[in-house]
Amino acid sequence: MNTMCSQTALDDIPLFTAKQREAITRVTRKYPMRVTDYYLGLIREPGDAIYRQCIPSEEELTNASGQPDPLKEDAHSPVPRLHHRYPDRVLLMATNNCAMYCRFCTRKRNIGDRTTAITAEELANAVEYLSDHEEVCDVLISGGDPLTLPQKKLEKIIKSVRTIPHIDIIRIGTRIPCIDPKQVTEELCSMLKKYHPLYINVQFNNPAEITPQSQQACTMLADAGIQLGNQSVLLRGVNDSPEVMKELVRKLLAMRVKPYYLFIPDMVKGTGHFRTSLETGLEIIDAIQGRMSGMATPQLVIDLENGGGKVALSPDHIIDKQDGKYTFRNFENKKYEYIDFQPCEKRS
Ligand SMILES: *Cc1c(COP(=O)(O)O)cnc(C)c1O
Ligand code: SF4
Repeated sequence: MNTMCSQTALDDIPLFTAKQREAITRVTRKYPMRVTDYYLGLIREPGDAIYRQCIPSEEELTNASGQPDPLKEDAHSPVPRLHHRYPDRVLLMATNNCAMYCRFCTRKRNIGDRTTAITAEELANAVEYLSDHEEVCDVLISGGDPLTLPQKKLEKIIKSVRTIPHIDIIRIGTRIPCIDPKQVTEELCSMLKKYHPLYINVQFNNPAEITPQSQQACTMLADAGIQLGNQSVLLRGVNDSPEVMKELVRKLLAMRVKPYYLFIPDMVKGTGHFRTSLETGLEIIDAIQGRMSGMATPQLVIDLENGGGKVALSPDHIIDKQDGKYTFRNFENKKYEYIDFQPCEKRS
């Protein structure tokens, strides 16, 4: 059962003082709260990585930097519900609903209509657009969280997209395996596996989210032949250290989830208290890359403001370059030289 913000629900948790409860109520007037009992149960102490992701903080109101829609997502919608920013792939916003309202969410602005789902007409229009755009081969069903939709409705969306011959892969972005893992049922997996090639990107941000329940959910999806990737958000007080991220990526691989992206948080109003420096992100990648498997290393990504799109950031391993002679540093920070291939006769 989902726990909407209510005093009684919060009263059940001994973590909140009267003063804290009052502050939470104030914040939720602007940014509503929603969390599952399962996820709340993972809190060990106030302010820990789980708490920070789901419990409203006064800083959401006091730290007013950022914009409601910094990525200008609303400007790249050729038809409602579809974001077509890159040549070959699109985002299809299936619903605004989520099992939890993550306090750092990029789509915090959609709170007014958080439960609205794509209508039959909107879906038909999106499918028509996609049918006319043969350059699109990859549809990412996103939201909100598509796995909060009734299974029939979700299947209708996936099935409609599958009717388009030039769509190779369908992807779903969801936090359900992390936030409400028991929603991943045998029924859901049997439905999904009819529509391969299907990929699911989940979002785990801290090792404390990896529990027997979430492991079970990911195992069921993987057993249905679904490739699982993880998209973490780099968040202050949640995962902004190499130690935490190393433990997270190791545990992800052990439950058959490939770390895919580590996002620098967007400049979204009300989320400033989660921001860390790019340098922190680069340090984390540097600590993983080369020390752990390439499989374990997510790509560090920043989504540029004003619709610039995603750019991958990488710690620099070339420390010098002269006349085709490169100097690299390896994972131990030792220097190594490399002479680049030179054609025997240079064309002038
Ligand atoms: C992130 C994103 C995608 C998917 O990008 P990948 O790098 O392929 O995962 C597609 N469209 C939009 C608008 C996006 O923001
Ligand atoms: S599940 Fe995703 S879309 Fe929903 S609130 Fe969390 S981060 Fe935002």
